[in-house]
Amino acid sequence: MTIKNVTVAGGGVLGSQIAFQAAFTGFKVTLYDINDGALDHAKQLLASYVPEFEDFYDDGDRAGSVIDQMSFSTSLAEAVADADLVIEAIPESVKIKVDYYTELSKVAPAKTIFATNSSTFVPSQFSEYVDRPEKFLAIHFANQIWKNNNAEVMGHPGTEDKYLDEVVQFAKDIRMVPFRLYKEQHGYILNSLLVPLLDAAQRLWVNGVSDPETIDKSWMIATGSPEGPFTILDVVGLNTPYNLALAKADTDTQSAEIAKALKAMIDDGKTGAASGEGFYQY
Ligand code: NAD
Repeated sequence: MTIKNVTVAGGGVLGSQIAFQAAFTGFKVTLYDINDGALDHAKQLLASYVPEFEDFYDDGDRAGSVIDQMSFSTSLAEAVADADLVIEAIPESVKIKVDYYTELSKVAPAKTIFATNSSTFVPSQFSEYVDRPEKFLAIHFANQIWKNNNAEVMGHPGTEDKYLDEVVQFAKDIRMVPFRLYKEQHGYILNSLLVPLLDAAQRLWVNGVSDPETIDKSWMIATGSPEGPFTILDVVGLNTPYNLALAKADTDTQSAEIAKALKAMIDDGKTGAASGEGFYQY
């Protein structure tokens, strides 16, 4: 089967970007969200990508007509009625995703491939709630999908290869660089490498071994990397590392110290590059 009709479930930060990217590259896209207010918010996000695509792509002048070519629905059954692929980008909550996959399995046609964009869960956590585990997998995008265009494609033990192949091809067709994982891994490739690096850097900092600027410089000079871990933390935004450190604070005193230090910065309005200041000023 060739994928033509794509439904994106959840029109928040990532869902709206995936929907825009797929529509821009010629797919017939339907965006599903829970109510009209959520769809209105999604449309605002979609509109904000028009100038980004115009600037970024040589053929970006087509971006202005993309939203008019998309369909919108608050009915899951209607949204997936002719879908070849449904990409789920709904909140990172097991309960919300379990309810969604249970409902989706009832209403989707047999041909539909189910994909999750979850950052921290793996498909096997939900495969028992899916009526077609062989057609269920993950495709994980990065924020600002048009620029940071890696797409990690990952099955669970019951996913059939041919559906992984189809989704890898879809990723290429929407101008991503696909990376197919051989087995399930929490955090895929990228976050499995990045999260420990960022954690180690923050431990050096709160332990008083060195300061953020020196740690970044040391990493950059030694590896040739254009950015050090604290610059990356600023780009991610400090709320995410704060929540990660807080989750481990009860069992790990250094994580508690990291959470305390990040909280002080966040309370001071230094939440990262988007706010104009984090570890660095922008
Ligand atoms: P978000 O909060 O911006 O958007 C979630 C959207 O889902 C909202 O529009 C909300 O109305 C909608 N929603 C809520 N319940 C729903 C339901 N039952 N059915 C359909 N839609 C529902 O979240 P986000 O940052 O876009 O993250 C969504 C998913 O993408 C998560 O699994 C996250 O791990 C993953 N992800 C996020 C990023 C990122 O940088 N934000 C990057 C990669 C992957």
